[in-house]
Amino acid sequence: MNDTSRREFLKVLGVAGAGAAAAACGPPDTGDKLIPYLIPPDDIVPGTGVSYATLLTGAGPEPLAVHAQVRDGRVIKLEGNPSTPTAGALTAMAHSALQDLYDPDRVPGPRQRTANGLAEATWEDGIAAAGAAVAGGATVLLTPPAIGSAARFYQEWASAVGATWVPWEPLGLEALRTAHEIAFGLDAVPTYQINSSDHIVCFGADFLGTWLAPVELSARFAASRLADHGAQARFTFVGPRLSLSGLKADEWIPARAGTETLVALAVAREVAARKAGGRAARVEAVLAPYTIEAVAEATDVPADKLQDLANQFAEARTPVAIPPGIATQGTAATDAHLAVVLLNYVSGAIGTTVTFDGETLRPHHVPFSAMTELARRMNAGEIQTLIVAGANPAYAMPASTGFAQALANVPNVISLSPHADETAAAAGWILPSHHELEAWGDGLLGRSHMALAQPVMQPVFDTRQREDILLQIAAAAGAADAFEVTDYRGYLENVWRELHARLGAGAPSFEDWWHQALSNGGVGLAVPDGRDVAPALTAAAANYSFQAPRPTDDFTLITYPTVQFYDGRGANRPWMQELPDTVTKAVWNAWVEIHPETAEPLGVETGDLLQVRTEAGSVTAPAYVYRGIRPDTIAVPLGQGHTEYGRTAAGRGVNALDLLDATPDERSGALAYSGGAATITATGSRGKLAIMQGSDIDLGREIAELMHIDDVPNAMEHEIDLTTLVEAAYDSDPQSPYRWGLTIDLNACTGCGACVTACYSENNLPVVGEDLCAQGREMSWMQIMRYYEETEEGFQALHFPTLCQQCGDAPCEPVCPVYAAYHTPEGLNAQIYNRCVGTRYCANNCPYKVRRFNWFASDFPYPLNLQLNPDVTVRSKGVMEKCTFCVQRINKAKLDAKDEGRLVADGEIQTACMQSCPTQAIVFGNLKDPASRVSRKAKGSRGYHMLDELNTRPAVTYLKGVTYAALPEGGHGQDDEAGSGHVNAVTDGNS
Ligand code: SF4
Repeated sequence: MNDTSRREFLKVLGVAGAGAAAAACGPPDTGDKLIPYLIPPDDIVPGTGVSYATLLTGAGPEPLAVHAQVRDGRVIKLEGNPSTPTAGALTAMAHSALQDLYDPDRVPGPRQRTANGLAEATWEDGIAAAGAAVAGGATVLLTPPAIGSAARFYQEWASAVGATWVPWEPLGLEALRTAHEIAFGLDAVPTYQINSSDHIVCFGADFLGTWLAPVELSARFAASRLADHGAQARFTFVGPRLSLSGLKADEWIPARAGTETLVALAVAREVAARKAGGRAARVEAVLAPYTIEAVAEATDVPADKLQDLANQFAEARTPVAIPPGIATQGTAATDAHLAVVLLNYVSGAIGTTVTFDGETLRPHHVPFSAMTELARRMNAGEIQTLIVAGANPAYAMPASTGFAQALANVPNVISLSPHADETAAAAGWILPSHHELEAWGDGLLGRSHMALAQPVMQPVFDTRQREDILLQIAAAAGAADAFEVTDYRGYLENVWRELHARLGAGAPSFEDWWHQALSNGGVGLAVPDGRDVAPALTAAAANYSFQAPRPTDDFTLITYPTVQFYDGRGANRPWMQELPDTVTKAVWNAWVEIHPETAEPLGVETGDLLQVRTEAGSVTAPAYVYRGIRPDTIAVPLGQGHTEYGRTAAGRGVNALDLLDATPDERSGALAYSGGAATITATGSRGKLAIMQGSDIDLGREIAELMHIDDVPNAMEHEIDLTTLVEAAYDSDPQSPYRWGLTIDLNACTGCGACVTACYSENNLPVVGEDLCAQGREMSWMQIMRYYEETEEGFQALHFPTLCQQCGDAPCEPVCPVYAAYHTPEGLNAQIYNRCVGTRYCANNCPYKVRRFNWFASDFPYPLNLQLNPDVTVRSKGVMEKCTFCVQRINKAKLDAKDEGRLVADGEIQTACMQSCPTQAIVFGNLKDPASRVSRKAKGSRGYHMLDELNTRPAVTYLKGVTYAALPEGGHGQDDEAGSGHVNAVTDGNS
């Protein structure tokens, strides 16, 4: 990969960003002819997959480089690109981009609104109509934020046709940016080097799930928690609700909503008092009012807890504070971010664990307040044409802004969405664009990688590249001369030619460089190491006047994005609907989280319907009784509605955005997702809430194990005699060189669910829907249980991935009357589908409850069926199935090794779950190889087997979670209290 100066890239792109794309790669265009492979293309071997590197930008807060596995012209699997900053990991939502691509509800071709609804139309008519509208002036182009060639293109396009380009992201970083602008005069998003921190304090951001760069930050978080090496960072979470990230904390400080600012300032004041020097003196005045005592009262956090936190933070060698994220973003969001900046500044984190590289790393976008201004202009008749490309404001702007209604006052609304979303439903024309897996593009990844996006297959529907549509509209509007090219691919290539021209003497030819970049998924960028950059604090920050929190007698409302749907944009993906929420384990529905103390006087249990009312509106959803939320706070997830996802274009639903008013954060203009006042009323009715976990505690069976940090013996080997395990005759054939095994590190697992969705994608798992989930008939081969462990001061969550344990003495095998469940020479519990007669004896005899029975025939409506992996049988009705450690991958690696006359090397096989895990919690390999990574991990001091007393001899070894929290006597804290809140969901999953 060519290392190129990032500064050169940014110059060429003209904006903050960079880009790439290509010419000759990608599957061949066969038009609409069926052509046999008499002379196949060089890169296609029938039955063998081809991998194309590309980029996903619509799957959460961070762009993700992927390898798209293409088989016979259709992409069947996405895997992370290991040579990029995310190191091959992916999120659950990124995996589900395939279901977005193959969504049967995509707009199949151009549509025009008529008196009778949407009617089929031609591209020619659509382009002509759009061109005429744009030529009429007063045009706005609304897109997601762009970084790379697209940013330059949109600017040039808007300039060419006399339009205004509005880049917008509903879950943007306005408050974070504004705080750093105030503090340092830097319009930049910092990098949080939490991997080198010894104390992480998070003030609300869900940085492991939905904020900033969760894949990269999860990897860094795991790297900071290497308990076996004596390097476990302490993690404290401050805020009114425990999110996915909060559940990993050693300690929870449940500050009143909106008072995180005060906690940060009080801690900063204490740290400053212990540090001599310029930084402490600089902030002395601004921090003076925030004594521990004063803040304790306002935040409802005991003074001794605040003092302890301040002491720990001050004593840490490399502390880092993570700012509030979306879930705590209120009308004083910038204040909260700035308070955390001051804490990082005074503790020395700025320049060490919080770094800048001096240039903007994230694409710019307008704040929420600019969108409300746009709605005003639309209502005032100032906008004649609105082209919406890749955004969905009719859904993502709260109802209180009236944006959806304002669309009716724009004469020409043109949607370029691939989906019939809420905005498209209000458009006069829908000119559907390609899915990003069908399109060209580029973007900056982290600090050091410029990624390319290329089409990985032919378009599924009659769609066009978004930028090509804009070029054609510009031509129809009389602005064809403004562009040298007629398609975006040509535009990208030209941009990259400019980039290549800056490489200087000795560079490879453009063609070689370009194809290498396409093959690699982009190019590396030489970036200056920003660790030493410690910007000076401005006078504005040193004299800042922080707002006082606004107390309310009502409940404080939190609305938050989820790993399944983000703000709702992933709601049309069945895998995401059926992925249990990390916190609640609920599927296919929204809920209202309330504390047990709040629920009790209302007589409310999990599943009872609650009406939540704010000044902006109301929603009704099932209650979820959750001890990880303050009693004066309630929380509703974004974008997650009953069956139809809270998305009105897809039907009815619970839309948490209906509860938000239009008052933004004063400083940054960001939407206040949190902090509003709400009332709740029990409706007296029961709702429907399928929860895929029967109990929140493991009932003393020592399934999920937690140990105190002081009890981690660094060098000791644990009690599992691995030698005996792998040599026992029944575990695997003594003649076989392999006994496949897996380790799962509970200390690393964050419960993100990426592994679960990777398994769905790799192994053709069907989605069964809410009702069957409620009956415990889900088909997931892997589940992440979330157990609570009692600590002396509260509780701690442990995420516990369960899957077939590939037992050596497998209880499932001897009870099968037809030998469908059998033991392979390599120790796997295989399942022969065409032998299975469906007695389900095996499932009944499995103590781990990881076998799944096909009660019905699977349904993969076209084009979802194009995603199916041909290496894995689609199971039929009446057949039992379960995890086999991705045996198709094992077999492929063995065949490759056999061809080369060797054994499979350690690390050569990755199961789909292991490959996706951002924290590397899962390790797969050969237990018979004592040097393999899995063997070494399994023999570590934290290893244990689930239900070891049954002597099933599992091949899965769990590594205990580690905490700084004091555990009750015996070190294994469990009692009834942790689970007493809501085990009794209306409908439980099986467990
Ligand atoms: S094991 Fe699964 S749930 Fe846990 S962190 Fe890894 S991918 Fe996420």
